[in-house]
Amino acid sequence: MTAGDRCELCPRRCKARRFGPSPEKGYCGALDAPRVFRYGPHFGEEPPICGEKGSGCIFFSRCTMKCVYCQNSPWSWKGGGDDMDVEGLASIMRKLAVEDGVGNWNLVSPTPYLPYIEKAADLLSREGVRLPFVWNSSGYERVETLERYRRLCDWALFDLRYSSDATAMKLSGAPDYVERAREALKWAWENAKGKREGEGGLVARILVIPGHADEAIESLAWMATELSPEIPVSIMSQYTPAYEAKSMPPLDRSVTEEEYSSVVDAAEDFGFGNGWIQDMASSSAELALLGENMSAGHGPVRP
Ligand code: SF4
Repeated sequence: MTAGDRCELCPRRCKARRFGPSPEKGYCGALDAPRVFRYGPHFGEEPPICGEKGSGCIFFSRCTMKCVYCQNSPWSWKGGGDDMDVEGLASIMRKLAVEDGVGNWNLVSPTPYLPYIEKAADLLSREGVRLPFVWNSSGYERVETLERYRRLCDWALFDLRYSSDATAMKLSGAPDYVERAREALKWAWENAKGKREGEGGLVARILVIPGHADEAIESLAWMATELSPEIPVSIMSQYTPAYEAKSMPPLDRSVTEEEYSSVVDAAEDFGFGNGWIQDMASSSAELALLGENMSAGHGPVRP
């Protein structure tokens, strides 16, 4: 959402004058042009997102979260990447759709740039180039913004990382994360229920964080009781120490098998039968290079 030239797109609502004649940076560092640091087809997402043709990932620089363990810190924290105008963004989307033949446009951390993405989508739509959108998010979103840009959310690929605001503040600088992420997930579930099979939906990602498996279990309990155990869940073991977390025990290690199993067992106990788990090997450094939101080695929660 914007109020005049001021940005209120994410829950921080920092009201930076990003869109006026003398643009100023927001809390997230975003300015008045979409900045992208990587794009291309990807085959490691959850099966409904990947389909047969792969998912066309576009990684946006800057982020509304400030995670101490971020694997993309050179871009999300420090702002690396290339600024582009709407036509430049449309060119990337056109290449992914027409040359690479991907099944969707996978917008990774898109929130600061939604107005530009919408314009690029309009431009391509007039050319007859259309694909479903995946909104790939930390979960830290405003419902008002999701509603305003719902056409960019055929698939919601939303994290639910914390069940304690104190942890969310300490690890991601987001003091109201739990309420905002739960509201966003609720919106995404309601939105998903109106879609026909294969047209879109919701995948809730549960990243198991070392020393915080109990919060992942609490998130699953909340989803099962307040929303539905029918929600497809992706339980992720891929946490890899990065950035400031390398010197912040217990964040300086991988998730243990015991921690990961406790979350998978809880998901089964709560009745989640629709979703995916990862091999513990997926937390390897090689996969970490692909990006924080990339995942691989998925299989059914209940084989
Ligand atoms: S998206 Fe960035 S600029 Fe906009 S309100 Fe959030 S932190 Fe501020």
